[in-house]
Amino acid sequence: MIIRDRLYIDGQWVTAAGQKTLQVVNPATEEVIAAVPAGTAADAAAAVRAARAAFADWAAAPLEERAAWLKKLAAGLQARAEELATLITAELGMPLDLSRSIQTAMPLDIIEGYADMLDCFQDEHIDSALVVREPVGVVACITPWNYPLLQVVLKVAPALLAGCTVVLKPSELTPLDAFLLADVVAEVGLPAGVFNLVSGSGEEVGEALARHPEVDMISFTGSTRAGRRVSELGAATIKRVALELGGKSPALVLDDADLSAAIEATLDNCFINSGQTCDAMTRLLVPEALYERAVAMATEGAKAFTVGDPMGGEAKLGPLVSARQQQRVRDYIQKGIAEGAQLLCGGSEQPAGLELGYYVQPTVFCRVTPEMTIAREEIFGPVLSIISYKDEEEAVRIANDTDYGLAAAVWSADEQRAHAVARRLRAGQVAINGGADNLIAPFGGYKQSGNGREMGRYGLEEFFEVKAILSPQK
Ligand code: NAD
Repeated sequence: MIIRDRLYIDGQWVTAAGQKTLQVVNPATEEVIAAVPAGTAADAAAAVRAARAAFADWAAAPLEERAAWLKKLAAGLQARAEELATLITAELGMPLDLSRSIQTAMPLDIIEGYADMLDCFQDEHIDSALVVREPVGVVACITPWNYPLLQVVLKVAPALLAGCTVVLKPSELTPLDAFLLADVVAEVGLPAGVFNLVSGSGEEVGEALARHPEVDMISFTGSTRAGRRVSELGAATIKRVALELGGKSPALVLDDADLSAAIEATLDNCFINSGQTCDAMTRLLVPEALYERAVAMATEGAKAFTVGDPMGGEAKLGPLVSARQQQRVRDYIQKGIAEGAQLLCGGSEQPAGLELGYYVQPTVFCRVTPEMTIAREEIFGPVLSIISYKDEEEAVRIANDTDYGLAAAVWSADEQRAHAVARRLRAGQVAINGGADNLIAPFGGYKQSGNGREMGRYGLEEFFEVKAILSPQK
Protein backbone atom coordinates (compact mmCIF):
# COMPACT_ATOMS: atom_id res chain seq x y z
CA MET A 1 0.00 0.00 0.00
CA ILE A 2 1.38 3.37 -1.05
CA ILE A 3 0.54 6.19 1.32
CA ARG A 4 1.09 9.70 0.02
CA ASP A 5 -0.07 11.92 2.86
CA ARG A 6 1.27 15.26 1.72
CA LEU A 7 0.83 17.77 -1.06
CA TYR A 8 3.70 19.47 -2.83
CA ILE A 9 3.32 23.22 -2.34
CA ASP A 10 5.95 25.97 -2.43
CA GLY A 11 8.85 23.58 -2.75
CA GLN A 12 7.85 21.40 0.20
CA TRP A 13 5.78 18.37 1.06
CA VAL A 14 3.08 19.83 3.30
CA THR A 15 0.17 18.39 5.24
CA ALA A 16 -3.16 18.93 3.51
CA ALA A 17 -5.67 21.28 5.12
CA GLY A 18 -8.31 18.55 5.52
CA GLN A 19 -8.18 15.00 6.84
CA LYS A 20 -9.86 13.18 3.98
CA THR A 21 -8.07 10.88 1.56
CA LEU A 22 -8.77 9.43 -1.88
CA GLN A 23 -8.20 5.74 -2.45
CA VAL A 24 -6.51 4.47 -5.58
CA VAL A 25 -7.74 1.10 -6.83
CA ASN A 26 -5.85 -1.30 -9.09
CA PRO A 27 -8.49 -2.02 -11.76
CA ALA A 28 -7.07 -5.47 -12.51
CA THR A 29 -7.20 -6.73 -8.92
CA GLU A 30 -9.91 -4.40 -7.53
CA GLU A 31 -7.62 -3.84 -4.53
CA VAL A 32 -6.95 -0.49 -2.92
CA ILE A 33 -3.28 0.10 -3.62
CA ALA A 34 -2.76 3.66 -2.45
CA ALA A 35 -4.20 6.68 -0.71
CA VAL A 36 -3.53 10.33 -1.48
CA PRO A 37 -4.83 13.49 0.21
CA ALA A 38 -8.25 14.72 -0.88
CA GLY A 39 -7.12 18.32 -1.16
CA THR A 40 -9.48 21.20 -0.45
CA ALA A 41 -10.07 24.73 -1.70
CA ALA A 42 -7.68 25.91 1.04
CA ASP A 43 -4.90 23.70 -0.37
CA ALA A 44 -5.63 24.96 -3.88
CA ALA A 45 -5.41 28.55 -2.61
CA ALA A 46 -2.08 27.87 -0.87
CA ALA A 47 -0.68 26.37 -4.08
CA VAL A 48 -1.88 29.33 -6.15
CA ARG A 49 -0.26 31.73 -3.67
CA ALA A 50 3.03 29.88 -3.99
CA ALA A 51 2.81 29.84 -7.79
CA ARG A 52 2.01 33.54 -7.87
CA ALA A 53 4.93 34.38 -5.59
CA ALA A 54 7.33 32.36 -7.76
CA PHE A 55 6.08 33.72 -11.07
CA ALA A 56 8.12 36.93 -11.46
CA ASP A 57 11.51 35.29 -10.92
CA TRP A 58 10.69 32.23 -13.00
CA ALA A 59 9.38 34.35 -15.88
CA ALA A 60 12.51 36.50 -15.73
CA ALA A 61 14.93 33.54 -15.67
CA PRO A 62 16.87 33.08 -18.92
CA LEU A 63 15.10 30.74 -21.31
CA GLU A 64 18.12 28.43 -21.42
CA GLU A 65 17.90 28.07 -17.65
CA ARG A 66 14.25 27.01 -17.77
CA ALA A 67 15.08 24.58 -20.57
CA ALA A 68 17.90 23.14 -18.46
CA TRP A 69 15.42 22.51 -15.62
CA LEU A 70 13.23 20.57 -18.04
CA LYS A 71 16.22 18.43 -18.98
CA LYS A 72 16.86 17.73 -15.30
CA LEU A 73 13.22 16.72 -14.82
CA ALA A 74 13.39 14.40 -17.84
CA ALA A 75 16.61 12.82 -16.53
CA GLY A 76 15.10 12.38 -13.06
CA LEU A 77 12.03 10.69 -14.53
CA GLN A 78 14.18 8.59 -16.84
CA ALA A 79 16.07 7.24 -13.84
CA ARG A 80 12.73 6.03 -12.47
CA ALA A 81 11.17 4.99 -15.78
CA GLU A 82 10.48 1.37 -14.84
CA GLU A 83 8.92 2.42 -11.54
CA LEU A 84 6.76 4.92 -13.41
CA ALA A 85 5.56 2.38 -15.98
CA THR A 86 4.69 -0.12 -13.25
CA LEU A 87 2.88 2.53 -11.23
CA ILE A 88 0.81 3.61 -14.22
CA THR A 89 -0.11 0.02 -15.04
CA ALA A 90 -1.15 -0.46 -11.41
CA GLU A 91 -3.34 2.64 -11.28
CA LEU A 92 -4.71 2.56 -14.85
CA GLY A 93 -4.58 -1.04 -16.09
CA MET A 94 -2.71 -0.57 -19.37
CA PRO A 95 -0.48 -3.56 -20.22
CA LEU A 96 3.01 -2.97 -18.87
CA ASP A 97 4.89 -3.05 -22.19
CA LEU A 98 2.58 -0.33 -23.53
CA SER A 99 2.94 1.63 -20.30
CA ARG A 100 6.69 1.57 -20.82
CA SER A 101 6.44 3.06 -24.30
CA ILE A 102 3.28 5.16 -24.45
CA GLN A 103 2.85 6.16 -20.82
CA THR A 104 6.51 6.66 -19.94
CA ALA A 105 8.95 6.96 -22.86
CA MET A 106 6.59 9.21 -24.83
CA PRO A 107 6.08 11.78 -22.06
CA LEU A 108 9.83 11.87 -21.49
CA ASP A 109 10.39 12.51 -25.20
CA ILE A 110 7.92 15.36 -24.99
CA ILE A 111 9.74 17.02 -22.09
CA GLU A 112 13.04 16.64 -23.96
CA GLY A 113 11.46 18.06 -27.11
CA TYR A 114 10.28 21.17 -25.27
CA ALA A 115 13.68 21.60 -23.62
CA ASP A 116 15.10 21.96 -27.14
CA MET A 117 12.38 24.27 -28.43
CA LEU A 118 14.06 27.60 -27.88
CA ASP A 119 13.33 29.17 -31.25
CA CYS A 120 9.66 29.95 -30.49
CA PHE A 121 10.53 32.98 -28.40
CA GLN A 122 11.72 35.25 -31.19
CA ASP A 123 10.51 38.84 -31.09
CA GLU A 124 8.82 40.15 -34.25
CA HIS A 125 8.70 43.57 -35.86
CA ILE A 126 5.42 44.79 -37.31
CA ASP A 127 6.10 48.28 -38.65
CA SER A 128 6.93 50.37 -35.60
CA ALA A 129 5.80 47.70 -33.17
CA LEU A 130 8.01 45.20 -31.45
CA VAL A 131 5.94 42.11 -30.69
CA VAL A 132 7.15 40.05 -27.74
CA ARG A 133 5.87 36.85 -26.19
CA GLU A 134 5.48 36.68 -22.43
CA PRO A 135 4.25 33.93 -20.13
CA VAL A 136 0.53 34.08 -19.36
CA GLY A 137 1.13 33.70 -15.60
CA VAL A 138 -0.11 31.12 -13.10
CA VAL A 139 -1.52 28.08 -14.88
CA ALA A 140 -3.79 25.48 -13.30
CA CYS A 141 -3.39 22.13 -15.07
CA ILE A 142 -6.32 19.73 -14.64
CA THR A 143 -5.76 16.30 -16.15
CA PRO A 144 -7.57 13.00 -16.84
CA TRP A 145 -6.65 9.40 -16.10
CA ASN A 146 -6.37 7.74 -19.49
CA TYR A 147 -2.80 8.82 -20.38
CA PRO A 148 -2.03 10.31 -17.00
CA LEU A 149 1.61 11.37 -17.22
CA LEU A 150 1.37 12.25 -20.92
CA GLN A 151 -1.51 14.66 -20.28
CA VAL A 152 0.38 16.21 -17.37
CA VAL A 153 3.56 16.66 -19.37
CA LEU A 154 1.77 18.15 -22.39
CA LYS A 155 0.78 21.02 -20.10
CA VAL A 156 3.49 21.30 -17.48
CA ALA A 157 6.51 21.14 -19.83
CA PRO A 158 5.47 23.91 -22.25
CA ALA A 159 4.01 26.02 -19.41
CA LEU A 160 7.30 25.92 -17.48
CA LEU A 161 9.34 26.58 -20.61
CA ALA A 162 7.15 29.58 -21.45
CA GLY A 163 7.88 31.01 -17.99
CA CYS A 164 4.59 30.14 -16.29
CA THR A 165 4.30 28.62 -12.83
CA VAL A 166 1.85 25.77 -12.36
CA VAL A 167 -0.56 24.10 -10.00
CA LEU A 168 -1.30 20.55 -11.10
CA LYS A 169 -4.47 18.70 -10.16
CA PRO A 170 -4.24 15.18 -11.55
CA SER A 171 -7.16 12.80 -11.93
CA GLU A 172 -8.37 11.32 -8.68
CA LEU A 173 -8.27 7.85 -10.29
CA THR A 174 -4.60 7.94 -11.32
CA PRO A 175 -2.70 10.45 -9.16
CA LEU A 176 0.34 8.31 -8.36
CA ASP A 177 2.47 9.19 -11.38
CA ALA A 178 1.96 12.89 -10.61
CA PHE A 179 3.28 12.31 -7.09
CA LEU A 180 6.32 10.64 -8.59
CA LEU A 181 6.79 13.67 -10.84
CA ALA A 182 6.63 15.89 -7.74
CA ASP A 183 9.26 13.66 -6.09
CA VAL A 184 11.52 14.34 -9.06
CA VAL A 185 10.75 18.08 -8.93
CA ALA A 186 11.84 18.03 -5.27
CA GLU A 187 14.93 15.92 -6.01
CA VAL A 188 16.22 18.20 -8.75
CA GLY A 189 15.49 21.28 -6.63
CA LEU A 190 13.24 23.24 -8.99
CA PRO A 191 12.73 26.69 -7.39
CA ALA A 192 9.96 26.73 -4.78
CA GLY A 193 6.46 27.50 -6.07
CA VAL A 194 7.22 26.90 -9.75
CA PHE A 195 5.49 23.50 -9.68
CA ASN A 196 2.81 22.64 -7.13
CA LEU A 197 0.74 19.48 -6.80
CA VAL A 198 -2.69 19.34 -5.19
CA SER A 199 -4.55 16.04 -5.46
CA GLY A 200 -8.30 16.03 -4.94
CA SER A 201 -11.64 15.87 -6.64
CA GLY A 202 -12.68 17.96 -9.61
CA GLU A 203 -15.59 19.42 -7.72
CA GLU A 204 -13.42 20.60 -4.81
CA VAL A 205 -9.89 21.32 -6.05
CA GLY A 206 -10.63 21.65 -9.78
CA GLU A 207 -13.44 24.13 -9.24
CA ALA A 208 -11.44 26.08 -6.64
CA LEU A 209 -8.67 26.51 -9.20
CA ALA A 210 -11.09 27.48 -11.97
CA ARG A 211 -12.62 30.12 -9.69
CA HIS A 212 -9.42 31.49 -8.21
CA PRO A 213 -8.78 35.09 -9.30
CA GLU A 214 -4.99 34.61 -9.15
CA VAL A 215 -5.06 31.79 -11.71
CA ASP A 216 -4.48 33.30 -15.16
CA MET A 217 -5.11 30.21 -17.23
CA ILE A 218 -6.71 26.80 -16.91
CA SER A 219 -5.31 24.11 -19.14
CA PHE A 220 -7.89 21.36 -18.96
CA THR A 221 -8.06 17.88 -20.45
CA GLY A 222 -11.06 15.72 -19.73
CA SER A 223 -14.71 15.32 -20.50
CA THR A 224 -16.77 17.89 -22.36
CA ARG A 225 -19.07 18.08 -19.31
CA ALA A 226 -16.27 19.10 -16.92
CA GLY A 227 -14.67 21.35 -19.56
CA ARG A 228 -17.93 23.27 -19.84
CA ARG A 229 -18.02 23.74 -16.05
CA VAL A 230 -14.42 24.93 -15.92
CA SER A 231 -15.16 27.45 -18.69
CA GLU A 232 -18.20 28.76 -16.83
CA LEU A 233 -16.23 29.25 -13.63
CA GLY A 234 -13.21 30.71 -15.41
CA ALA A 235 -15.41 33.22 -17.24
CA ALA A 236 -16.01 35.16 -14.01
CA THR A 237 -12.40 36.35 -14.03
CA ILE A 238 -11.90 36.15 -17.83
CA LYS A 239 -9.32 33.40 -17.54
CA ARG A 240 -7.79 31.89 -20.57
CA VAL A 241 -9.23 28.39 -20.75
CA ALA A 242 -7.63 25.80 -23.04
CA LEU A 243 -9.80 22.73 -23.41
CA GLU A 244 -8.85 19.27 -24.70
CA LEU A 245 -12.06 17.26 -24.56
CA GLY A 246 -13.74 14.13 -25.85
CA GLY A 247 -14.21 12.69 -29.30
CA LYS A 248 -16.17 10.36 -31.55
CA SER A 249 -13.68 10.08 -34.33
CA PRO A 250 -14.46 8.55 -37.73
CA ALA A 251 -12.23 6.35 -39.87
CA LEU A 252 -13.46 6.93 -43.39
CA VAL A 253 -12.57 4.13 -45.80
CA LEU A 254 -12.94 5.19 -49.43
CA ASP A 255 -13.88 2.65 -52.10
CA ASP A 256 -10.32 2.36 -53.47
CA ALA A 257 -8.66 1.82 -50.08
CA ASP A 258 -6.56 -1.10 -48.90
CA LEU A 259 -9.43 -2.48 -46.83
CA SER A 260 -7.43 -4.95 -44.82
CA ALA A 261 -4.85 -2.32 -43.77
CA ALA A 262 -7.66 0.08 -42.88
CA ILE A 263 -9.51 -2.45 -40.73
CA GLU A 264 -6.38 -3.65 -38.97
CA ALA A 265 -5.26 -0.12 -38.10
CA THR A 266 -8.74 0.99 -37.02
CA LEU A 267 -9.13 -1.96 -34.65
CA ASP A 268 -5.72 -1.20 -33.16
CA ASN A 269 -6.54 2.45 -32.78
CA CYS A 270 -10.02 1.86 -31.37
CA PHE A 271 -9.03 -0.81 -28.85
CA ILE A 272 -5.70 0.44 -27.52
CA ASN A 273 -5.85 1.30 -23.80
CA SER A 274 -9.14 -0.63 -23.80
CA GLY A 275 -10.71 2.12 -25.88
CA GLN A 276 -9.98 4.80 -23.29
CA THR A 277 -8.39 7.18 -25.77
CA CYS A 278 -9.80 10.58 -26.64
CA ASP A 279 -8.96 10.32 -30.35
CA ALA A 280 -9.95 6.66 -30.77
CA MET A 281 -11.46 5.89 -34.17
CA THR A 282 -14.75 4.52 -32.91
CA ARG A 283 -16.80 4.92 -36.10
CA LEU A 284 -15.67 2.89 -39.09
CA LEU A 285 -17.31 4.24 -42.25
CA VAL A 286 -17.22 1.84 -45.21
CA PRO A 287 -18.86 1.96 -48.65
CA GLU A 288 -21.84 -0.35 -49.10
CA ALA A 289 -19.97 -2.35 -51.75
CA LEU A 290 -17.20 -3.25 -49.28
CA TYR A 291 -19.46 -3.61 -46.28
CA GLU A 292 -19.74 -7.42 -46.06
CA ARG A 293 -15.98 -7.86 -46.52
CA ALA A 294 -15.28 -5.18 -43.92
CA VAL A 295 -17.59 -6.86 -41.41
CA ALA A 296 -15.92 -10.25 -41.93
CA MET A 297 -12.42 -8.76 -41.59
CA ALA A 298 -13.31 -6.80 -38.45
CA THR A 299 -14.85 -9.87 -36.80
CA GLU A 300 -11.75 -11.90 -37.57
CA GLY A 301 -9.33 -9.10 -36.63
CA ALA A 302 -10.98 -8.44 -33.27
CA LYS A 303 -10.01 -11.94 -32.12
CA ALA A 304 -6.38 -10.84 -31.81
CA PHE A 305 -7.29 -8.42 -29.02
CA THR A 306 -6.86 -10.65 -26.02
CA VAL A 307 -7.90 -9.36 -22.63
CA GLY A 308 -6.16 -10.10 -19.34
CA ASP A 309 -3.70 -9.25 -16.59
CA PRO A 310 -1.85 -6.07 -17.57
CA MET A 311 1.07 -6.55 -15.21
CA GLY A 312 2.90 -9.47 -16.64
CA GLY A 313 0.77 -11.26 -19.14
CA GLU A 314 0.63 -11.32 -22.91
CA ALA A 315 -2.81 -9.73 -23.18
CA LYS A 316 -3.26 -6.78 -25.51
CA LEU A 317 -5.98 -5.15 -23.40
CA GLY A 318 -6.10 -4.66 -19.66
CA PRO A 319 -9.14 -3.71 -17.62
CA LEU A 320 -10.97 -0.38 -17.79
CA VAL A 321 -9.92 2.12 -15.17
CA SER A 322 -12.81 1.72 -12.72
CA ALA A 323 -15.98 -0.18 -11.92
CA ARG A 324 -17.92 2.93 -12.92
CA GLN A 325 -16.27 3.13 -16.31
CA GLN A 326 -16.83 -0.60 -16.87
CA GLN A 327 -20.53 -0.22 -16.07
CA ARG A 328 -20.84 2.82 -18.32
CA VAL A 329 -19.36 0.92 -21.26
CA ARG A 330 -21.52 -2.15 -20.61
CA ASP A 331 -24.59 0.09 -20.57
CA TYR A 332 -23.61 1.50 -23.96
CA ILE A 333 -23.17 -2.00 -25.38
CA GLN A 334 -26.64 -2.94 -24.15
CA LYS A 335 -28.04 0.25 -25.58
CA GLY A 336 -26.49 -0.58 -28.95
CA ILE A 337 -28.22 -3.94 -28.95
CA ALA A 338 -31.51 -2.41 -27.77
CA GLU A 339 -31.42 0.21 -30.55
CA GLY A 340 -30.98 -2.47 -33.21
CA ALA A 341 -27.25 -2.59 -33.95
CA GLN A 342 -25.90 -6.06 -34.71
CA LEU A 343 -23.31 -7.39 -32.27
CA LEU A 344 -20.50 -9.03 -34.24
CA CYS A 345 -18.27 -9.92 -31.31
CA GLY A 346 -17.77 -9.04 -27.67
CA GLY A 347 -20.69 -7.95 -25.54
CA SER A 348 -21.46 -6.62 -22.10
CA GLU A 349 -20.62 -9.76 -20.10
CA GLN A 350 -17.41 -10.13 -18.08
CA PRO A 351 -14.80 -11.81 -20.33
CA ALA A 352 -14.51 -15.55 -19.70
CA GLY A 353 -11.91 -16.60 -17.13
CA LEU A 354 -11.55 -13.14 -15.56
CA GLU A 355 -13.70 -13.02 -12.46
CA LEU A 356 -11.90 -10.06 -10.94
CA GLY A 357 -11.04 -6.79 -12.64
CA TYR A 358 -12.98 -4.19 -14.57
CA TYR A 359 -12.60 -5.88 -17.94
CA VAL A 360 -14.75 -5.37 -21.02
CA GLN A 361 -14.63 -7.58 -24.10
CA PRO A 362 -13.50 -5.89 -27.30
CA THR A 363 -16.79 -5.34 -29.04
CA VAL A 364 -17.71 -4.68 -32.67
CA PHE A 365 -21.13 -3.64 -33.88
CA CYS A 366 -22.32 -3.54 -37.47
CA ARG A 367 -25.56 -2.23 -38.98
CA VAL A 368 -25.02 0.89 -36.91
CA THR A 369 -26.87 3.97 -38.15
CA PRO A 370 -25.63 7.51 -37.52
CA GLU A 371 -28.59 8.29 -35.22
CA MET A 372 -27.88 5.49 -32.75
CA THR A 373 -26.51 6.40 -29.34
CA ILE A 374 -23.40 4.27 -29.87
CA ALA A 375 -22.65 6.24 -33.04
CA ARG A 376 -23.09 9.61 -31.34
CA GLU A 377 -21.78 9.47 -27.77
CA GLU A 378 -18.24 8.95 -26.57
CA ILE A 379 -18.22 5.46 -25.02
CA PHE A 380 -14.58 5.42 -23.83
CA GLY A 381 -14.34 1.66 -24.00
CA PRO A 382 -13.33 -0.97 -26.59
CA VAL A 383 -16.39 -0.60 -28.80
CA LEU A 384 -16.27 -0.12 -32.59
CA SER A 385 -19.31 0.79 -34.70
CA ILE A 386 -19.33 -0.05 -38.41
CA ILE A 387 -21.50 2.26 -40.48
CA SER A 388 -22.08 1.95 -44.23
CA TYR A 389 -22.42 4.81 -46.70
CA LYS A 390 -23.54 5.22 -50.33
CA ASP A 391 -21.07 7.69 -51.78
CA GLU A 392 -18.27 10.02 -50.79
CA GLU A 393 -20.64 12.93 -50.14
CA GLU A 394 -22.62 10.88 -47.69
CA ALA A 395 -19.42 9.59 -46.05
CA VAL A 396 -18.18 13.13 -45.40
CA ARG A 397 -21.60 14.15 -44.12
CA ILE A 398 -21.75 11.23 -41.65
CA ALA A 399 -18.14 11.79 -40.56
CA ASN A 400 -18.89 15.45 -39.77
CA ASP A 401 -22.30 14.77 -38.25
CA THR A 402 -21.07 14.78 -34.66
CA ASP A 403 -20.77 17.21 -31.77
CA TYR A 404 -17.09 16.35 -31.64
CA GLY A 405 -14.13 17.04 -33.92
CA LEU A 406 -10.93 15.75 -32.39
CA ALA A 407 -9.53 13.38 -34.99
CA ALA A 408 -10.36 11.42 -38.13
CA ALA A 409 -8.77 9.00 -40.54
CA VAL A 410 -9.07 8.68 -44.32
CA TRP A 411 -8.09 5.59 -46.30
CA SER A 412 -7.62 5.68 -50.08
CA ALA A 413 -5.18 4.38 -52.69
CA ASP A 414 -5.20 7.87 -54.17
CA GLU A 415 -3.34 10.20 -51.84
CA GLN A 416 -4.66 13.34 -53.50
CA ARG A 417 -8.21 12.15 -53.10
CA ALA A 418 -7.51 11.32 -49.44
CA HIS A 419 -6.07 14.82 -48.92
CA ALA A 420 -9.12 16.42 -50.50
CA VAL A 421 -11.42 14.47 -48.18
CA ALA A 422 -9.18 15.20 -45.17
CA ARG A 423 -9.63 18.92 -45.82
CA ARG A 424 -13.40 18.53 -45.71
CA LEU A 425 -13.39 16.87 -42.28
CA ARG A 426 -14.06 19.10 -39.29
CA ALA A 427 -11.43 17.66 -36.97
CA GLY A 428 -8.12 18.82 -35.52
CA GLN A 429 -6.04 15.90 -36.77
CA VAL A 430 -6.66 13.69 -39.80
CA ALA A 431 -4.46 10.65 -40.48
CA ILE A 432 -4.16 9.51 -44.07
CA ASN A 433 -3.58 5.79 -44.64
CA GLY A 434 -2.51 5.28 -41.06
CA GLY A 435 -0.55 8.53 -40.76
CA ALA A 436 2.67 8.52 -38.77
CA ASP A 437 3.04 9.31 -35.09
CA ASN A 438 4.01 12.93 -34.73
CA LEU A 439 4.68 14.38 -31.32
CA ILE A 440 5.21 17.93 -32.53
CA ALA A 441 2.18 18.34 -34.82
CA PRO A 442 -0.71 20.27 -33.23
CA PHE A 443 -3.31 18.12 -31.51
CA GLY A 444 -6.70 19.44 -30.43
CA GLY A 445 -10.35 19.65 -31.19
CA TYR A 446 -12.94 21.39 -33.30
CA LYS A 447 -16.47 21.86 -31.94
CA GLN A 448 -17.11 20.25 -28.56
CA SER A 449 -13.76 18.44 -28.63
CA GLY A 450 -12.23 21.64 -27.31
CA ASN A 451 -10.49 24.82 -28.30
CA GLY A 452 -6.86 24.23 -27.43
CA ARG A 453 -3.88 22.76 -29.19
CA GLU A 454 -1.20 20.66 -27.55
CA MET A 455 2.15 19.26 -28.72
CA GLY A 456 5.02 21.08 -30.39
CA ARG A 457 5.12 24.81 -30.90
CA TYR A 458 1.33 25.16 -31.01
CA GLY A 459 1.20 23.59 -27.56
CA LEU A 460 3.75 26.15 -26.34
CA GLU A 461 1.95 29.14 -27.83
CA GLU A 462 -1.04 28.49 -25.58
CA PHE A 463 1.01 29.71 -22.64
CA PHE A 464 2.08 33.04 -24.12
CA GLU A 465 0.63 36.49 -23.94
CA VAL A 466 1.58 38.63 -26.92
CA LYS A 467 2.61 42.20 -26.25
CA ALA A 468 3.13 44.94 -28.83
CA ILE A 469 5.59 47.65 -27.81
CA LEU A 470 4.96 50.65 -30.02
CA SER A 471 7.72 53.09 -30.89
CA PRO A 472 7.26 56.52 -32.43
CA GLN A 473 7.37 56.53 -36.26
CA LYS A 474 10.85 57.50 -37.48
P1 NAD B 1 -13.25 14.11 -16.36
O1 NAD B 1 -13.78 15.32 -17.04
O2 NAD B 1 -14.16 13.36 -15.47
O3 NAD B 1 -12.00 14.51 -15.44
C1 NAD B 1 -10.87 15.17 -15.97
C2 NAD B 1 -10.28 16.03 -14.89
O4 NAD B 1 -11.19 17.08 -14.60
C3 NAD B 1 -10.03 15.29 -13.58
O5 NAD B 1 -8.85 15.76 -12.98
C4 NAD B 1 -11.24 15.69 -12.76
O6 NAD B 1 -11.02 15.65 -11.37
C5 NAD B 1 -11.46 17.12 -13.22
N1 NAD B 1 -12.83 17.60 -13.04
C6 NAD B 1 -13.98 16.89 -13.07
N2 NAD B 1 -15.04 17.69 -12.82
C7 NAD B 1 -14.53 18.93 -12.64
C8 NAD B 1 -15.12 20.19 -12.35
N3 NAD B 1 -16.43 20.33 -12.16
N4 NAD B 1 -14.31 21.27 -12.23
C9 NAD B 1 -12.96 21.14 -12.41
N5 NAD B 1 -12.35 19.97 -12.67
C10 NAD B 1 -13.12 18.88 -12.80
O7 NAD B 1 -12.62 13.22 -17.48
P2 NAD B 1 -11.91 11.80 -17.30
O8 NAD B 1 -13.00 10.80 -17.10
O9 NAD B 1 -10.81 11.89 -16.30
O10 NAD B 1 -11.21 11.60 -18.72
C11 NAD B 1 -11.88 11.13 -19.82
C12 NAD B 1 -12.26 12.26 -20.75
O11 NAD B 1 -11.10 12.99 -21.11
C13 NAD B 1 -12.83 11.73 -22.05
O12 NAD B 1 -13.93 12.49 -22.42
C14 NAD B 1 -11.67 11.94 -23.03
O13 NAD B 1 -12.07 12.04 -24.36
C15 NAD B 1 -11.06 13.19 -22.53
N6 NAD B 1 -9.67 13.32 -22.98
C16 NAD B 1 -9.37 14.23 -23.95
C17 NAD B 1 -8.07 14.37 -24.43
C18 NAD B 1 -7.71 15.39 -25.47
O14 NAD B 1 -6.52 15.67 -25.64
N7 NAD B 1 -8.67 15.96 -26.19
C19 NAD B 1 -7.08 13.54 -23.92
C20 NAD B 1 -7.41 12.61 -22.96
C21 NAD B 1 -8.71 12.52 -22.48
